[in-house]
Amino acid sequence: FTNAIVGALVALSIIALVLSLVNIEDVALPPTVKYGMVFDAGSSHTSLFVYKWDSDKENNTGVVSQTLSCDVHGQGISSYASDPPKAGDSIRECLDKALKLVPATKQREVPAYLGATAGMRLLREQNSSAAEQVLAEVAKTMQEYPVAFKGARILTGEEEAAYGWITVNYLLDSFTKYSPKAHMWVRPEAANIFGALDLGGASTQISFMPEGSVVNWKEGSKFTLYGYDYSIYTHSYLCYGQNEMLKRLAKELIAESSPSARVHHPCYPTDYNETVSLSSFRTSPCTNQSDPRLGPGDRNITLEGRGDASGCLAAIKKLFNFSACGQRQDCTFDGIYQPLVRGKFIAFSAFYYNFKFLNLTEGQTLATVRETIRRFCRRSWEDLSASYPEENPQRLPKYCTNANYILTLLLDAYKFNETSWSNIIFQMKVGSKCSLWATLGSADVGWTLGYMLNLTNMIPAEAPVWVKGHVP
Ligand code: AMP
Repeated sequence: FTNAIVGALVALSIIALVLSLVNIEDVALPPTVKYGMVFDAGSSHTSLFVYKWDSDKENNTGVVSQTLSCDVHGQGISSYASDPPKAGDSIRECLDKALKLVPATKQREVPAYLGATAGMRLLREQNSSAAEQVLAEVAKTMQEYPVAFKGARILTGEEEAAYGWITVNYLLDSFTKYSPKAHMWVRPEAANIFGALDLGGASTQISFMPEGSVVNWKEGSKFTLYGYDYSIYTHSYLCYGQNEMLKRLAKELIAESSPSARVHHPCYPTDYNETVSLSSFRTSPCTNQSDPRLGPGDRNITLEGRGDASGCLAAIKKLFNFSACGQRQDCTFDGIYQPLVRGKFIAFSAFYYNFKFLNLTEGQTLATVRETIRRFCRRSWEDLSASYPEENPQRLPKYCTNANYILTLLLDAYKFNETSWSNIIFQMKVGSKCSLWATLGSADVGWTLGYMLNLTNMIPAEAPVWVKGHVP
């Protein structure tokens, strides 16, 4: 009998010891925190985003927050086409940084993705084996790290657009809301669903929930999220990203003035010159079509800034085939179908960067925006470089072109007008500012969060379950 008591006491003390150890671990590391990471391998650069959320809330909306964003040094991964192992090496620094944030015991559970966008779509068009090798090298590097590697692939333009839309609406908590009055989850009004406008380096995307049915759309996406169906229109325009547009514009201006070695550039500031070679247009499928106006061989051309806002708008409009749409209002350019824009939109990436630089992200009217851009375009290079000594000297001369391009895309192609202009919110970060919703996450807007949420099944088709005593 005494032996039994001693045995029971020993067993109890072992249990107590185990429990106390578990508790110590609990204090150091709440077992409910989960992480995920996604590389955005864009055309001009790569960024790594690390997200964090509470596992007991993971099927609710808006609970994921961004805990790290790391910019990879150097150009996008497509620039390593002739030396793919360098693409793999380029992402190490950010992976090391990310792993410092994740407790060692959790690292192997962290789903890790890499998605490449338009820069790699273009490389695949030009040289598919180089594109495959670059992806294989980045995948190899990711697999060397103690994370749950889930793949490195090229996203389609439509995926990129759709995941951007999911990110925006997830962060703005627009998919579903708990009504404390009704004690149930209710569907927010369609008017509260946001559209997404993304301007990258090599492509641009639009996605929104239009009025009416999805019947005639080639490019519709359908989702069931939190118990409700959504039909969204998405389109991605390859070669209509900002950097490819700048190159296409330069090529067109040169072709129009050929064979002159000095060419007026209406969008560049006066006193600003840039020398380009014809061969530089051969590096991208967006500009490598032969043009008889350019003549044979290579030569250097000097682009001379003219600071002419209306000439700039006119030159940019020539990059679009608007006449292919005739009088149709449900058409952007090149005969591409788009239903009429509806509701509010978040315009991010280069839409935001350029307008932020021009102080145009505070809801200015279209008239003010046009006037600000016109005035900016008239400023000489001498004035600009003295006024913005901190600004990247490669970027500074391009803001006039970029801003006029944004106007053309939004107004002439997508058909926003004076009224619907006020529905466009230029913003890069979205998250809760309101203390009532302090549990909501905040993050950069882009496709990465939507991609991770989808692939980790964190946006269920069913409505969330209400747990008693839980504050959403
Ligand atoms: P990415 O997100 O890498 O596809 O880049 C989108 C576009 O924004 C590219 O054309 C970049 O060159 C451009 N970009 C990035 N940062 C800035 C900035 N601060 N100002 C203006 N353009 C930018």
